Amino acid sequence: MSEPGIIKRLCEEVVNRIAAGEIIQRPANALKELIENSLDAKSTNIIVTVKAGGLKYLQIQDNGTGIRKDNLDIVCERFTTSKLQQYEDLREISTYGFRGEALASISHIAHLTILTKTAAEKCAFKASYENGKLKGAPKPCAGNNGTQITVEDLFYNVIARKKALRSPSEEYSHIMEVVGSYAIHNHNIGFTLKKFGEAADVKTPVKSSVIENVRIIYGNAIARELMEITLEEEKLKLKISGYVTNVNYSHKKGTMLLFINHRLVDSLSIRKAVDSIYSTYLPKNAHSFVYLSIELDPRNIDVNVHPTKHEVHFLYEEQIIDKIKECIEAKLLSCNSTRVMYTQA
Ligand code: ADP
Ligand code: MG
Repeated sequence: MSEPGIIKRLCEEVVNRIAAGEIIQRPANALKELIENSLDAKSTNIIVTVKAGGLKYLQIQDNGTGIRKDNLDIVCERFTTSKLQQYEDLREISTYGFRGEALASISHIAHLTILTKTAAEKCAFKASYENGKLKGAPKPCAGNNGTQITVEDLFYNVIARKKALRSPSEEYSHIMEVVGSYAIHNHNIGFTLKKFGEAADVKTPVKSSVIENVRIIYGNAIARELMEITLEEEKLKLKISGYVTNVNYSHKKGTMLLFINHRLVDSLSIRKAVDSIYSTYLPKNAHSFVYLSIELDPRNIDVNVHPTKHEVHFLYEEQIIDKIKECIEAKLLSCNSTRVMYTQA
């Protein structure tokens, strides 16, 4: 018989790296966290630059509040945040991340550099991080108001993960999806995505509109068929808004951009519900383009069930999905009947 193994404690660095790898599974996850931070910092313009699908280099430049110089020493430690002071705040929180984990996680699995300037400071400061810790004192340098975060060699110390992500072009398409979705949802904010040294692949203007940004990102074939939907429901403190394609549009691959309380999430049950409504209007195996923004009482939603915070769960799911269905169905019905009348006339 073989001997039982000896149990040993993993060193802290390895523990942190494992935890980080659970939150950040690919460059697009890191970027989502960084974009949410820039939005929390009230930026109006966000520029993302990547090399090799973000695996080699991922940089985000914003024009937000910046980070105070004297916070630069702890900003990348775990559970350091400016968004949550006490446990009770968790229920009311409306900013995106609140666990103070994103920057820490990234710094455990990549080389992270922050260049930041607040309006009150005369110059910018640059600081580099490794394993949550500041490497040397922040250096004064030139820079605009706002924050630039550079993530290099993501997963350099997580060999298995690095091997699993072999295609920079696939990673780039995930990045494009994240930038495109946030640009559509935050149409007042300008977003730019480009590969290092190349022209922009996505560029949305400041103070644009949802339809205009859909046109820029997904093309006119979708943008011209969009119908606006809105719904408010007192009892559930529910607000639904968005744009969905009418019955003239169908595509073999559907697109759903879903934001719940302004976070990009996924919900299999909402996806299924939307598909089931369209299935009666569209040809077989054809799908729609749907952008939905749902606002719920934050007490009824739990975005933090999954480490990547992507799949979301909420209370009153059934009632809320019924409302979404109602709202889309009504729109589709009305456009279907106008189409019929139009052809009869
Ligand atoms: P969280 O967002 O949950 O607070 P993060 O690790 O994502 O945790 O960020 C830690 C802190 O760093 C934030 O609370 C914020 O104060 C600051 N920060 C991060 N990114 C930015 C940014 N782009 N602009 C201004 N402050 C930022
Ligand atoms: Mg954050």
